[in-house]
Amino acid sequence: MDRLSEYQRKRDFDRTREPAGSSVRKGRRRSLRFVIQKHAASHLHFDLRLELDGVMKSWAVPRGPSLDPANRRLAMHVEDHPIEYNTFEGTIPKGEYGGGTVMLWDRGTYVPDEPRPGEAEADAVRRGLKAGKLSFSLHGERLLGSFALIRTGGRGGAGSPRQWLLIKHRDEHATSGPDATDVFITSVETGRTMDEIARAAGGGEGGGAGSEAGDEMMVPMRATPARGLPESGAWTFEPWRGGVRVLAWAATDGTAMVDEAGRGVGGYPEIAGELADLARRLGGPVVLEGEIAADDDGGEAFFVADILLAGEEVLAPRPWVERRAALEEVLKRRRLNRVRRPENDADPARILERAAAAGWPGMLARRQDGPYQPSEQTDALLRITG
Ligand code: MN
Repeated sequence: MDRLSEYQRKRDFDRTREPAGSSVRKGRRRSLRFVIQKHAASHLHFDLRLELDGVMKSWAVPRGPSLDPANRRLAMHVEDHPIEYNTFEGTIPKGEYGGGTVMLWDRGTYVPDEPRPGEAEADAVRRGLKAGKLSFSLHGERLLGSFALIRTGGRGGAGSPRQWLLIKHRDEHATSGPDATDVFITSVETGRTMDEIARAAGGGEGGGAGSEAGDEMMVPMRATPARGLPESGAWTFEPWRGGVRVLAWAATDGTAMVDEAGRGVGGYPEIAGELADLARRLGGPVVLEGEIAADDDGGEAFFVADILLAGEEVLAPRPWVERRAALEEVLKRRRLNRVRRPENDADPARILERAAAAGWPGMLARRQDGPYQPSEQTDALLRITG
C-alpha cells in the first residue's frame, strides 16, 4: 500500500476516472509488463511504466522514446502507479492532477538484459534501478529491442535525482528513421487519436492536442535545426534542456503562456504568480520567451532567454544584444524562485559542457544582431544537437 500512497495523495478519485489502485498486486506471472501512455497534460509527454514488485515504476519522458541510439531522451522518475493503470485510456478532468488526455500508446512485456546467473528478473530490475542504470528489452506491439535507463541527476552531480535518460541501444531494432512517436499516432488499444479520445469523453474536456490553437496566436520564434556550430556571425549560446519553449505574457491582471504549437500552457501556478508579480512591479505588461524545464531541485522552472515587450517598450525588432540588456534590467534585483535568470555565453564550449554533464539534448544559438520574430522560423535562431 505504501508504495502507492504518493499516487493516491495526488488524486481525487471522486473526480478522476483513473484507477484508485486499492492494492499492490503481487504478480505470479513470469513476464514483467510494461506500458507507455501518451499524455497531453499541461504539456505533452509519454509515460513509461515498468512493472516491479506489484506496481508500475514510472518515468515521464517529455519527447517520448526514440529508436535512434543518438537520441538521449530526458525521463523524469515519477511516483509508482497501480498495475490497473495499464489499461487506463481517457481523460483526467481539468484542474485535477495530470489533467488532460491519456492514450495507451504501447504495451507488452520486458526483461532485464543483464541478470546475474540464477537471478530472478525482478531482482535484476530492482538492482539496476537502485544502481541508476537499467538495461532492458521491450517486447511491445510497437517498440522492440534493448534500451537503457540511466540516472544522471543527484549523487553530487548536477540536476535532480529524479532525472534519468532513456536511450536506445544499438541492435537490429534501432533506426535513425522517423521517430516511432511520430509514426504511431493512435491508441494501441482502441485505434483512436488523442482528439478522438478527448471528444469521446464529452465536452472536449481534457483538451486534445491543438484544440486550443488560435490562428492569430503568437508563438515562440521557431528554431532552425542545425547539426554543427554556425560558421559566421556573432552568436550567443544557451542551454536547450528539452523542455517546453513558451512565450509568456504577464500583465498586472494575469498571465498566459503559449507553446510552439500555440497551445496554452498551464499548471505552473508558482511561475505564473512570479510573472504576474513582475508585471505589477514594472507597472505594465512584459512578454518573455524561454523554456519550462526541470530544475536542479526537481521542480519545474521558467528559464528566461529573451524579452519582446517591457511596459511601453517594444523590444522585439531590436537586436538581441539590446534585448538582453533590457531583460537584465527587468529581472534585476527581483526575488524570483521559479523564474530563472538567463544563462548564455558567446563561447559555445561552456554551454556544450554543461549540456553534456546535465544530459540536455543540445543548445540554442541566437544571432547577436538578429531581431525577435514571433512565430517565424528563422536562421537567427538555431537548435544545435549532435
Ligand atoms: Mn503523465
